[in-house]
Amino acid sequence: MEKYFIEEKHTNSLNQPFLMHRIRKPLLPLYLHIPFCSKKCDYCDFNSIVSEADIIDRYINALEKELNAFAERYACDTVYVGGGTPTILNENQIKTLLHSIRRCPENADAPEYTVEANPGTLTRGKVRLLKEYGVNRISVGVQSFQDRYLNFLGRIHTSAVAVQSIELIISEGFKNVNIDLIFGYPGQTLDEWIRDLRMAVELQPEHISTYALTYEGETPLAKKAVNGAISKLDEEIELKMYKTAIRFLHENNYCHYEISNFARLGYECVHNINYWNNKRYIGIGAGACSFLDGERTMNERNVLQYIKAIEDNTEVKVFRESLPQRKYASETIVMALRMLRGISGTEFYDRFGYKIEDQFGTQMKDLQCLGLVNYDDKRLKLTEKGLFVADSVMSEFL
Ligand code: SF4
Repeated sequence: MEKYFIEEKHTNSLNQPFLMHRIRKPLLPLYLHIPFCSKKCDYCDFNSIVSEADIIDRYINALEKELNAFAERYACDTVYVGGGTPTILNENQIKTLLHSIRRCPENADAPEYTVEANPGTLTRGKVRLLKEYGVNRISVGVQSFQDRYLNFLGRIHTSAVAVQSIELIISEGFKNVNIDLIFGYPGQTLDEWIRDLRMAVELQPEHISTYALTYEGETPLAKKAVNGAISKLDEEIELKMYKTAIRFLHENNYCHYEISNFARLGYECVHNINYWNNKRYIGIGAGACSFLDGERTMNERNVLQYIKAIEDNTEVKVFRESLPQRKYASETIVMALRMLRGISGTEFYDRFGYKIEDQFGTQMKDLQCLGLVNYDDKRLKLTEKGLFVADSVMSEFL
């Protein structure tokens, strides 16, 4: 169901307030991309660069312009500022950015307002600014509590700095904190992984994300794996680590709600759940994607070209794709299967106008026979067995 924000515009030439008109603005999840980092990590394939302060200033001005265009037509029900490293911005830049987001009054009331933060870039002043401007969730890129793995990744922080950052965030009154962890480093033992999980749980975040280390594209890490400088961890040990995370976090009252995500009850990430439901969202910034009215678009990825396009008022979108209904349906199934609750037959029918079985009956039957998906309660979801081979199961629906 479409959600709206009702904006009341009061204007009067005699300076007396009266209700002139009401504007119904559709409510959308809003993502803002900050593509800057202190240094490029060895495993990183994200759209991020190391830049000078003046480029960052110009970028924030460009974001503000794109944001204003957004605010003329829409309001947002969740805000997510990701990167890159949003907290690499200095306090003035953070203030300008958060002020632009807040200038659209409805944005200040977003029930979930997340900013990604990296240890080594946080100060008390920055954390206070985030709080002052209504940010209510901070996602911290810890990755590991062991310095040798942080070095291996090329991160700028140490384990001690990661702990200090989380304690700082909590001491400033944040009640919704996520910790990102990576497992599956070459040579990593199960015991070392359990130590990381234990350390994370001791800090009592509301949310924990755990990702297996991946070797992407042309990254220095992928090259080292190809030329034999490092050996990837055995897949069986990696699977054991994943299973251990599920068991350990469950024992510590974190609900496993998405393949890589765990949360205390009521702290699931609403913004990301919208992505997994394959619903509409707007992305602002270099390389940011949007999905609206059945069309997927992507902004220019190159930071300087993005800034120039916005400054010159030329087209910033470099990719557009209209999703045919059946492709949209199959992507929706794939995304929804990432969540342990899957997707209900009724919800699918309401969105697409036909039954899941009408398009995916054969796959569902085969995968049910193999014990990989379940549709007993009219929710299509992965079984425990299916969870451990999720990529293969999902590919059956594409
Ligand atoms: S901090 Fe994150 S976005 Fe930046 S280079 Fe490292 S992994 Fe990439």
